[in-house]
Amino acid sequence: MSNRAIFIDRDGTMIIDHGYIKDPNIVELIPGTKQALEMLKSAGFMLFIVTNQSGVGRGMMKVSDVEAVNARLLQLIGKDLITQILTCYHAPEENCNCRKPNTKLIEDIKLKYDLDLSNSYSIGDKDSDKQLAENLGGKGIKIGENNINTLLDAVKQIASFKPYTYKNKPDHIQIETTIVCNAKCDFCTQRKVTRRPKRMEDNVWKKIIDDTRGWGVSYRPFLLNEPFADTRMLDICRYIKQDKTAKIEFNTNGSLLSPKVTDSLLEIGVDIVRFSIDGFFEQEYNKRRKGLDFKTVENNTEYFCKNAGKDVFTEVRMIAFPNTEKEQNLFNEKWTKIAKNVLVTELYRYPWEGQTEPLYKPCLKIRKEMFFYVDGRATLCCWDTNERGVIGDVKEQTVSEIWNGEPLKSYRNILDNGERDKILLCSRCDAYKNANFDMNIK
Ligand code: SF4
Ligand SMILES: [Zn+2]
Repeated sequence: MSNRAIFIDRDGTMIIDHGYIKDPNIVELIPGTKQALEMLKSAGFMLFIVTNQSGVGRGMMKVSDVEAVNARLLQLIGKDLITQILTCYHAPEENCNCRKPNTKLIEDIKLKYDLDLSNSYSIGDKDSDKQLAENLGGKGIKIGENNINTLLDAVKQIASFKPYTYKNKPDHIQIETTIVCNAKCDFCTQRKVTRRPKRMEDNVWKKIIDDTRGWGVSYRPFLLNEPFADTRMLDICRYIKQDKTAKIEFNTNGSLLSPKVTDSLLEIGVDIVRFSIDGFFEQEYNKRRKGLDFKTVENNTEYFCKNAGKDVFTEVRMIAFPNTEKEQNLFNEKWTKIAKNVLVTELYRYPWEGQTEPLYKPCLKIRKEMFFYVDGRATLCCWDTNERGVIGDVKEQTVSEIWNGEPLKSYRNILDNGERDKILLCSRCDAYKNANFDMNIK
């Protein structure tokens, strides 16, 4: 199958045009450029930069100047995105065949890359950029026309993410029954939560569960907190399990899951328990997991894993802190013999934790899951520590009304278009940055 290509202009399209740029230090990407290239690449296009550099033919700069600027550009966008850079160095008076909108540079590589030119595009800020693909039988797009102001705008005309079909009820419901945690770990955002009340009122968590009975939901009765810091947790589990279709999942630090609590929990019925242990050496553990006792955590976890039947999934997790490879290996070795799964995972970067650039991709998080704060409000995402994406309130609406309501619908549309930048919460989130999403291509 032949390859569809995009021929992209450089100055004024990818980087700010200062006129005959010689100095790599002043190369500045136009915002959205990298994202635009990533979208095109995920849509399966081969990407070429095609640039007229007549400054060389006019004697104003050298080929090596152009190459230095190109190198800097590739450094800024990542060189894997671009297949090749094609340059004409001639002055217009030389009447060459390679200066855009002439097509020689592309005809020369057509066979090498097996290009399907009639389904390819050129994009740039000049008429000649637009004309280039048209001279080759493809389509040209000019930035500055038809409400297209950036490369990213142009790309959105060519490629779009395929919308996801949402079910009319969620598969997972997360409930912050309390904001309390018995640990004080430096790396955890739980410590920044200031919502009130500290404990969800009984009628609120009961309503969430009542509203969703018979749906086959997997409930996670915690958000950023430690679930067993809520002294009502066994009662909450009993209430959930009155529904035979319901499942229960926990993420826990394990410190409060004593053998006694474990016995009750296994009797009530629990389906998945993930223990965050985050250390093999007691000394290292104590530095990370402040306020918890290592031996108690280990003993509780071992007791639970050994007594959980074959239908209860157990997982033991460690965050892959830098320079802990040896500890990770020992951790793996130990817990593989005890838990059904061992996971060594990167530390989450919550939205607004230092991210400066938006990511132009849809999101997997919102497709099947729903999240309730301690006060009964629902939010778009469990990573929404600061209540930036509230979508409803279960004290005033049913769960179904929230899940199928307008606020969530409009967030879904925006996210499915890859427009995270239009949602305050998501505009600084890099979750799923390596995930591939299906694309529609014009
Ligand atoms: S983009 Fe990030 S913040 Fe927004 S819903 Fe997805 S995971 Fe949550
Ligand atoms: Zn030329």
